Amino acid sequence: MRGKLETPPAGYVAHKPDSLRTYLATKPRLALHLGGKPDDWTVEEVGDGNLNLVFLVHGPKGALCAKQALPYVRLVGESWPLPLSRAHFEHIALVEEAKHAPDLVPRVRHYDPIASMTIMDCLDGHIIMRKGMIAGRRYPLFATHIARFMAETLFRTSDLALTAAEKKRRVAELSGNVMLWKITEDLIFTDPYCEAELNRWTAPQIDPDAQAIRGDMKLKIAISELKERFLSETQAMIHGDLHTGSIMINAESTKMIDPEFVMYGPMGFDTGAVIGNLLLSYFSQDGHAKEPGARRDYQDWILAQIEAAWTEFEQRFLALWETAHAGDAYPKHLFADDAGKKAYAEIQRAYMRRLFADTLGFGGAKMIRRILGLAHVLDLESIADPDARAQCERRALNLARQLILERQKIASTAEVADAAREMLKK
Ligand code: ADP
Ligand code: MG
Repeated sequence: MRGKLETPPAGYVAHKPDSLRTYLATKPRLALHLGGKPDDWTVEEVGDGNLNLVFLVHGPKGALCAKQALPYVRLVGESWPLPLSRAHFEHIALVEEAKHAPDLVPRVRHYDPIASMTIMDCLDGHIIMRKGMIAGRRYPLFATHIARFMAETLFRTSDLALTAAEKKRRVAELSGNVMLWKITEDLIFTDPYCEAELNRWTAPQIDPDAQAIRGDMKLKIAISELKERFLSETQAMIHGDLHTGSIMINAESTKMIDPEFVMYGPMGFDTGAVIGNLLLSYFSQDGHAKEPGARRDYQDWILAQIEAAWTEFEQRFLALWETAHAGDAYPKHLFADDAGKKAYAEIQRAYMRRLFADTLGFGGAKMIRRILGLAHVLDLESIADPDARAQCERRALNLARQLILERQKIASTAEVADAAREMLKK
């Protein structure tokens, strides 16, 4: 699954705080944005990037964030090569997202193709949403923001909005990001369902659950169907890693960061990532509650966000279909008379129905990989008592399985919420 370590282009240096300071001093617009003199700037490397180098730079006037790709996975080192081109693809994604939802992504100030580095606004005053949710914080604007982000970015990059020629040009433009997709293909759709070297889970508590999933033929058929959709579908430009660790947030503002897994893929992979990660947080809350049940209200808030986000997403998506349909898919002139209009409404309902099924399937897949696969989530990992953690994880696994297997049957987010509440009783 791992490629060869590439030789960076001439002129590439992996930055250290001081070299970055010198670099920024040679870029007048960026230096002006920071204000003062280079010596006045503080430059710190952020510790929590898994794949890349991330620096935060503060000057007397402004602040910047520099994200630089290394030819390997930062957390692992040279033994796990990863192409520098991911920075190029992430930059394309950030620019495209900014066209449709400029207030919901960090503003890009500079891109350096030799350094494989994007320099964007530093999101001071925001925190990673996953951490906020572990602390039990509510974000009143989250649902409306994420709904708008997904509706805008997904609709406007789909065959509903773009001509076939433009859409295919874009598919080609992103088609080189294969090594990142391969990570997803392996870690999400394959490894958790077999004895893979990189798997890990809360042992021995979750051993029987992991074994049951490896032997679950129905589930393995379903996850393989979802994998084929992920491999073959180019429905829209998707963020590709839209979990609560890729969202920086506060009470007023929400920013989606880190789209390096960008691709043309099934829309449900993004909508599912959001819902799956909210559900992981939901199940983790009992492990963080000071006393049993103390986080019930917060858990209800989480379920309400899932319902609100999906409902608004669907409304916005369908509204865009009315006002911004300029693509080659579902030509409206075939449906101009009264019977046609009725049929068109049915087409739209069926489209959203399929998208909802994908959302549930991919959402469930995202949950399972975070419990049985390589990369786990802090929501669950930060529960110190392994028995308590395992109980949260088992509930999450069981709901995830249900979402995947019943993705065509479950009709609404209200049903998902009911099933999640039921699971807490087990
Ligand atoms: P990676 O893809 O390597 O994991 P991320 O893009 O997720 O890197 O960034 C890693 C961390 O850096 C984030 O979790 C966040 O704490 C911080 N970060 C990233 N972008 C910004 C930004 N624009 N402003 C402030 N902090 C940021
Ligand atoms: Mg990343």
